[in-house]
Order: sequence, then structure tokens, then C-alpha cells
Amino acid sequence: MSASPGLFCDLETDKLREECGVFGIFGNDEAAAHTVLGLHALQHRGQEAAGVVTFDGRLFHNHRALGLVGDHFSSEAVISGLPGHTAIGHVRYSTQGAPLLRNVQPLFADFAFGGLALAHNGNLTNALSLRRQLVEQGCLFQSTSDTEVIIHLIARSRQPSVVERLVDALAQVEGAYALVALSGSALYGVRDPLGVRPLVLGELEGAPILASETCALDIMGARFVRDVEPGELVILSAAGVESLKPFPRLPRRFCIFEYVYFSRPDSTVFHRSVDRVRRALGRELAREHPAPQADCVFSVPDSSNAMALGYAEESGLKLEHALIRNHYVGRTFIHPAEAGRNAKVKIKFNPVRDVIAGRRVVVVDDSLVRGTTSRGLVQMIRQAGAREVHFRVASPPITGPCYYGIDTPTKRELIASQHSLEEIRTHLGVDSLGYLSLTGMLRAAGGDETEFCHACFSGAYPTEVPDESTRGRNDLPAAVSVPA
Ligand code: AMP
Repeated sequence: MSASPGLFCDLETDKLREECGVFGIFGNDEAAAHTVLGLHALQHRGQEAAGVVTFDGRLFHNHRALGLVGDHFSSEAVISGLPGHTAIGHVRYSTQGAPLLRNVQPLFADFAFGGLALAHNGNLTNALSLRRQLVEQGCLFQSTSDTEVIIHLIARSRQPSVVERLVDALAQVEGAYALVALSGSALYGVRDPLGVRPLVLGELEGAPILASETCALDIMGARFVRDVEPGELVILSAAGVESLKPFPRLPRRFCIFEYVYFSRPDSTVFHRSVDRVRRALGRELAREHPAPQADCVFSVPDSSNAMALGYAEESGLKLEHALIRNHYVGRTFIHPAEAGRNAKVKIKFNPVRDVIAGRRVVVVDDSLVRGTTSRGLVQMIRQAGAREVHFRVASPPITGPCYYGIDTPTKRELIASQHSLEEIRTHLGVDSLGYLSLTGMLRAAGGDETEFCHACFSGAYPTEVPDESTRGRNDLPAAVSVPA
């Protein structure tokens, strides 16, 4: 059977990169309530949609919605509609492409062995070719998410147990996955052999927990136990926590962008405090690109706050609070007439004029992606009266897209893949521009280049990469989405 062109058209124009957070808890009276709390703490990893699946010993229950966790999971009715001692949850983010309820995770399917719910953070690099093969073989896909490939591989596996089917399925996929899965008898957590995305094991009053980041443990007073190791599968059941290492051992490739932008600074990720790494990035940046003639330094809030702090510590420049960020923007309608006037930037940020007027300022940002936000910010800072603007980026130029679960645009849209440093400086309209070097970034993260995936900066992709032509993106709709 061959696939209809419509199906592939749908798949190929939908966004295949998804930033996500996952959570799971086994054996707790308040499993759903704790999962919702965990998802609250992981909200920064995905604001587009959220979902929770519970198991009550007999039946699975689920609630999935487009939007923020707090908007859809805070009522007593929703929590009481999710009974059971075991639960998993997921938050999902995509800046572009139509949000589809059918893509909201956890995905759930009834198999020969019973029900199984799956929630996935990361991206599979061979999902499209696997999907094509599976469709050829007669599989009917319900979503455009790469995670559904795993569901079909589990369904088709001839292995006898749930665990063996899961291992069989995962042995066929490539790329990044931090996965939580819930069956009628256990909760499973798996990290891909490279360990690209984080996944930690925690514990609350004897109930084991899985979460993308430790901040999801802190919110409920749970204890951090350890990281789930790259290539490890943990089984959380009435028998306790069992650990398997079913995959071939590969070198680690922790995503360095988790430190630069994605994780919360109060989390411990890959055995290191995100806040400490970010401050170290700022210190390295100050050493590599000082601005001795400047009067003060400030961050582009919030992701760059700790980097600006590090820059100030190292340089001795006064740290200022000069850009105020509106935290409540969500998805905002921008009138087409406003669209050309930096409307997206103005909705998100406003300068403190008294701090900026007449001064020579250093602006620290964590990363430069397309350069559009930064260009708008620089204009705003100049209009606020800055005498000189020295732009400092606490990571190297991004020259390639991420295929492992960070939402970066195509190579063509990445400013540093198309332009020289001087061209970018002119485009931003700044007096000086300095990017942190790859060596400086790795030193701040406390590892060498073999421990991290830094492919978006270096081009050293740890797996085969999908063909760029198969990964189109939707155009922005008339009502422009402002990523929160
Ligand atoms: P740009 O205008 O595209 O250069 O945007 C740069 C800003 O985007 C920086 O301030 C980053 O904090 C932020 N950023 C970096 N990566 C991402 C991402 N994956 N999703 C949303 N924002 C991001």
C-alpha cells in the first residue's frame, strides 16, 4: 500500500522539531496532582500544549489540551478526572506550525499486551524514513509527531514483554529521546545512548519520579536521586526501581544548549548547576570580549541574567537592570500595520530609559539565532539614548540547525550561517560585537568537546542528519505568534 500524498504533505510541512518536558510518578495517592505540579515547573520547556495520562489499576485516563498547564489543569474537576497512583505528563512547544491536538502527548495506544502511554522529549533523526516504511507496511498514523513512530514499532515488535518490545522499538530509532512510558504494571524511563536530553530520577515519600529537570522535583519537595544514564532504561514498579542497559554504549553527547538557553537556572542538568555554568559563560565572555570603555552591563532577560552577572563579576562593570520583560505575552495578535515596527520585540521588552540614556552599554544575550530580536532590541536601546552599544553573545555563532529537539530554524535563516561577524555587527547596528568561542563555552560547562553535543555551533553532528529538504516549516500566520 502506498501513502497518500496528502499525508506526507501534512507531515513534511509540520514542524518536526519539538521542545518538550516530561514527568512521571509511580505509586502516589496524588499522582495526577503531582504530575501537574511537575509540568508547571517544566513549563519553560514547552508552552504550546500539555497532557497527563494516569492509570488507576484498571483503566487509563487522560487529559490533553492546547495551552499552558495552569490554564487547563488547575481545576479540581480535571484532577479528579485523572484518578490513579501512577501518572506521566508532557509539555510541548513549537514556535511555528499549526498546533494540533492530535500531536499533544502523552500519546496512548492499546496493544496486544494492554495500554501504553508515551511522552517524549527530543527528536528522532530517522523518524521520517521509518514512518514512510511503516506507512508502506499499512500503519495508520494519527499524528504528525515523530514519537508515534515508536508506538508503531512497539506494536509490530514480536518480542514477548513490554520492556523487550520497547527496547526492540528504540533500537531502530536514531536521534535524541528522553522518554517516559506508562503501562498497566510499570513506569519506564529511557535516555538515548548519547544522552542528548536530560532525564532525572527522584523520589517523593517512597514514590519514584522521572523528570526532565530537577526543578520539577523541587516544586513538590521531592529528593533528587540521580540522573538516568545515557542508554539506560529504568523500570519503576511495585518491585522498586530496576535498571537495564540494553543499548550499545556510545560516547556521551549532552546538549550544551540546555545550559545556554533551554534549562531553568535553578536545575541541575548533566551533574552541573545550570546557574553556575551560565555565570561561567558570562565570565569567559568578559575575558574573551571585554569592553573596558563601557559604563555598565545588562542582560536580555531572563535567559541571559546569569551570564550578565558573570560578565559583571569578571569585568568589574556595574550590572544594571535595563530591559524589562513582559512575562504575560503568550500568543499575541499584532496588527499588520504594526508588524514592521519591531512590534514583537516591543510587546516582549521595554527599556528603562533612565538607566540607558547617555551611557555606553554592554548588552549580554545568551544566543543569536536569526538576529531579528537582537536588532529590534538594539534599536530600542539606541532610542532610549545609549551612547554606545556593545553586544556580547554568551555562546558561539549558531551555524546549523538542531535535529535533536531544540527549536532552531533552517540553516538559511540562521544569521551566522550566512553572514560574517562584521556583517552581523552592521545588521544589529552595534558599536562592537563579540561571540564566546567554542573553547570558552566548553570550559564554562566544565567538559571537553567529546562530552557535549555542540553541533549547532560546530557542525559536528553526533548522528546522521535528516535531509534538510524534508524539513520545511509553515509560514507565520497573519496573527503573529510571540514565543513566550
Ligand atoms: P534571534 O532574534 O532569533 O537572534 O533571537 C535570539 C533570542 O532568542 C535570544 O535572546 C535567545 O534567548 C532566544 N532563543 C534562543 N534559542 C531559542 C529557542 N530555541 N526558542 C526560543 N527562543 C530562543
